[in-house]
Amino acid sequence: MERHNGFEQGPIRPPSEASSLLLRVNRNCPWNRCTFCSIYKKSKFSIRPVDDVIRDIDNIHEFINRLQDRGTTPAALQKNLSPGEEPAFYAAYNWLAGGMESIFLQDADSLVIRPENLLKILRHIRSKFPGVKRITSYARSDSVARIGDEMLKEIAAAA
Ligand code: SF4
Repeated sequence: MERHNGFEQGPIRPPSEASSLLLRVNRNCPWNRCTFCSIYKKSKFSIRPVDDVIRDIDNIHEFINRLQDRGTTPAALQKNLSPGEEPAFYAAYNWLAGGMESIFLQDADSLVIRPENLLKILRHIRSKFPGVKRITSYARSDSVARIGDEMLKEIAAAA
């Protein structure tokens, strides 16, 4: 298992997710065999520990609360960031500026992780950000087809 190295985001998102919070559930692409696609060709696929993703969500939640605190300013917060906090701070800042309506799970196929872990992540997102209107992800049809109907319904309800 790889060590948690702080909040992470992957290299791409759909154009429609420009205002979304990007949450990295796994790194790179588990398939990586499309001849027209070079994005992840030199990158090894790995699934992030679910507790690391939960920690990323908590980090964003904490920064959103601090950014919404009328007793401080983004500039003051930025000035006092601890080492390694910048990615979560900027992700929270941009998401707040974009209205906090949507979240995109990265990278190339978030449905390849254990469905129970995906549910845990989705439910944690909902508990921290009940106002989110849309949670989306890339996924291969093969990954979706391997999840049973009942679990898919639970995932859809949680998202
Ligand atoms: S599944 Fe998507 S990310 Fe993976 S190689 Fe194909 S096009 Fe690229």
